[in-house]
Amino acid sequence: MYQVLLYYCYTPLDDPEQFRDEHHRLCVALDLRGRIIVAGEGLNGTVSGTAAQCAAYMAAVKADPRFAALEFKVDAAEQHAFQKLHVRVKPEIVHSSLAHLRPQERTGQHLSPQEFKALKDRDDVVVVDVRSDYEYNLGRFRNAVTLDLENFRDFPARVEQLKQFKDKKILTYCTGGVKCEKASAYLLEQGFENVYQLHGGIIKYGLEAGGEDFDGQCYVFDNRVAVDVNRVNPRVISRCCACREPSARLINCANPHCNAHVAQCETCGQALQGACSDACLAHPEKRPYDGTGAYPKASNHYHPAQGLASFRL
Ligand SMILES: [Zn+2]
Ligand SMILES: [Zn+2]
Repeated sequence: MYQVLLYYCYTPLDDPEQFRDEHHRLCVALDLRGRIIVAGEGLNGTVSGTAAQCAAYMAAVKADPRFAALEFKVDAAEQHAFQKLHVRVKPEIVHSSLAHLRPQERTGQHLSPQEFKALKDRDDVVVVDVRSDYEYNLGRFRNAVTLDLENFRDFPARVEQLKQFKDKKILTYCTGGVKCEKASAYLLEQGFENVYQLHGGIIKYGLEAGGEDFDGQCYVFDNRVAVDVNRVNPRVISRCCACREPSARLINCANPHCNAHVAQCETCGQALQGACSDACLAHPEKRPYDGTGAYPKASNHYHPAQGLASFRL
């Protein structure tokens, strides 16, 4: 049995490069795959492995006192959710224009999934999705306000749209919670007073609160593309990019230069051969359509230790 782990922690790391090398070595030794970002402000990752490998990884991370506040979201999976392992140093653990904020010092009040569920439908509450458009188009909380974001770094530019709710309680949510740490800290900085965040994000809400009132699927950044979170009252909200009928079948456009993540029904998939539009269907480099709409990158010659600074064959 495999697991997919999702986690983050805002905590100062004095030497991100050195931490990266050690952490990469740990992941290679445990045969994990996934994507991990290391920055001076903390750690953000999603990895897959067997249950035993994941358990060993979680124990190793939690043994480091710097990650006392880190929480793992653990999903069961049938196989690895990644082809490769990447451990990279970046300026921030989530690309934002909010590098100056320190969520571990000041951020929106954390709500457990049960607390979020109890509050979210009240008249004095506004639920705000801080994720990007392709994510909330696939699935979102039933009454959520969305911000027309192509990328999280545009969040500050959209906050104007929330000023009308300044007297209400603002409840933010995202996939695993990491964006909300900064988004809610920014709202506080902008003078919003009642700011809360769904701790652990949609994923934890699905695991611990049954996902009630989350419509559609949750976009995830691994091979699974999207996961079901609502076991209570699920609905499909995404629509086929061609015929606009409800469809939860997510594909990548067969035109590699477009590669858009869109929903497309089986019928339109056949008609358009996996392209999102007639223009993409006509593109000279359009990839052949095998009925799935998935184009995993070839993993030939891949060796997980190649990213290690000290690695020699
Ligand atoms: Zn269709
Ligand atoms: Zn396209």
